[in-house]
Amino acid sequence: MHQLGFIGGVEKSILTAEIREKLSPAKRIKTPYGLTSPLKFLAHSGKKYVLIFRHGLEKIEITAPFVNYRANIYALKKMGVSRIVSFNTVGSLTQEVRVGDLILCDDFIDLADHMRRTFFTAKKSRHIRMHPAFCPDLMSRLAKVSSFLGKRLKRGGVYVCVNGPRLETAAEIRYLRIIGGDVVGMTMATEANLARELDMCYAPVCYSIDYAEGVYKAPDGSNVLVPEDEKQLKNEVSTVFSKVLEGILESSDAPKACGCELYGYLTIEPKLKPVVKMARNKSAVGK
Ligand SMILES: [Zn+2]
Repeated sequence: MHQLGFIGGVEKSILTAEIREKLSPAKRIKTPYGLTSPLKFLAHSGKKYVLIFRHGLEKIEITAPFVNYRANIYALKKMGVSRIVSFNTVGSLTQEVRVGDLILCDDFIDLADHMRRTFFTAKKSRHIRMHPAFCPDLMSRLAKVSSFLGKRLKRGGVYVCVNGPRLETAAEIRYLRIIGGDVVGMTMATEANLARELDMCYAPVCYSIDYAEGVYKAPDGSNVLVPEDEKQLKNEVSTVFSKVLEGILESSDAPKACGCELYGYLTIEPKLKPVVKMARNKSAVGK
């Protein structure tokens, strides 16, 4: 297993059919924290990569607050993955980030209260530094790859992680903007926190699929999430993320020099057990 792994939302939404045909059948893995989301493997240039689809394969089978983030991150760790690139669709908190834009956030504000979002226990915990929030090595690779896609690219920005699954009120969106957010999503910060706890590198790439509530007003004054002339851009997400995936696989994979492992403290926690066995995900295959 190669040390690079990927996490995305719904497989069908973020990857093209061409890429999906190259993936293995879906599996889920049992961990001490429960069952993972469906995952698949991709063979490329003699190496094998793992991709986890946090929400499902064909459609959203499980929403953000109910995703088993600990199982997903733990399973990647146990499979030998030390670096994670995540694909995230987000809502824009400002018209400066338009539908169809790529955003390489460099920080986040975590407002989600997902259950079980830490590997620590009440009696065994440490303060882990979260600055920089993401792996600088992976962010550099993402920036190089993303700059050749012909898309508007925003380097830097703040991702606000909310609980979901509902969308926010207009007042909540104004608040998220005031506290410094550029985009809003429901999953990424939880993954970034858990990855850091296990000494893993983590870096996200975000694609704006709509404006958050109240951000964009149509000429008639109505509230619009996706303007008519930007709907096609929203639908390009699978093409764009597939190109990012291919680009990352082809980009330089030099030995780690980022120091992310210096932040985590939990790798050796004795109560963590190895993955027990691989279980074929019958319920998710063929849907
Ligand atoms: Zn790193």
